[in-house]
Amino acid sequence: MKVFKQVKLLYKKLVYQKTICDRCGQEINRDGSYDKFDCTLSLREGRSFPEGDFSTIKTMDLCQKCGNTLFNSLEKEGYKVHECDYDAYTERINV
Ligand SMILES: [Zn+2]
Repeated sequence: MKVFKQVKLLYKKLVYQKTICDRCGQEINRDGSYDKFDCTLSLREGRSFPEGDFSTIKTMDLCQKCGNTLFNSLEKEGYKVHECDYDAYTERINV
């Protein structure tokens, strides 16, 4: 869950503050270190037309511990989890 605070400007705008794990409630630190972990799960459903989008999206942000627990649980339930190095992944999603 991404947490925003409201800042008073000439208009109200949501400003990103932090990301909290949607399972355990711990703050997910993305402090720019060399260690990388990102687990954002999303599901988008609906229809999208040139006139407008009529879809909804469900999202979940998870810390490293809860993200690994979720993926391990999914694998045990029979979901196929794909693993590769990040450079290969970004090449694949940019096709
Ligand atoms: Zn967590």
